Amino acid sequence: MPSFWKPFREQALNLFLKPNCPLCDRTATDTFCKYCHRQLQECQLLDPAQSWQGDLPVFAWGKYAGAVKRSMAKLKYDGHRSIGNIYGEWLAASWQKSPPVALPNKLILVPIPLHPDKLISRGFNQAELIARGFSRATGVKLDLSLHRTRSTTAQFGLSKSARQENVADAFALVRSSLKPGDSVLLVDDIYTTGATVRSAALALRSIDINVCGVAVVSTVVLD
Ligand SMILES: [Zn+2]
Repeated sequence: MPSFWKPFREQALNLFLKPNCPLCDRTATDTFCKYCHRQLQECQLLDPAQSWQGDLPVFAWGKYAGAVKRSMAKLKYDGHRSIGNIYGEWLAASWQKSPPVALPNKLILVPIPLHPDKLISRGFNQAELIARGFSRATGVKLDLSLHRTRSTTAQFGLSKSARQENVADAFALVRSSLKPGDSVLLVDDIYTTGATVRSAALALRSIDINVCGVAVVSTVVLD
């Protein structure tokens, strides 16, 4: 084949070739290969609403363990954005199958934001990708006006009180269409101590926005 045609041939092939599984590099059937897909599904919680209680109820698709843990690292640090989209859809499917009780009629999804510096270095906010997937699958409206006002140091290795202090006053609404009385569902990738989402909830509740709870892909607190 003349070299002139080569780029065109490669472009045409790329249209039909699906990327390999981001976790093991085998041929992917959807986002993942069937083996990794099965391993991920094994981390799914039977009752995603089991922690839907207390001051800030938590709805979780699965456990932060095994293949889920590896996939989260691939999403955040290797830039596999498709993982965020598919998790948003899986979280939405769980939500539609086992919706928490006593929800308000009209919910608005608000992803937990990254600090602008981190957003620039990463290029995307994984919580926003998840919320977009959830929104597409459910039709629930998305609002992106919650922002971080200052950088928080890494949470890893800090005590519980230090973590809470670390994220206090770290959130604010920017050019928001959210109004007092609106009902919000926060969305995040991983729930650990809950300090970050509690701080975000505090910022929203201080202006009379009703934060119903948080929907996360995975949680480390359940056993
Ligand atoms: Zn795989």
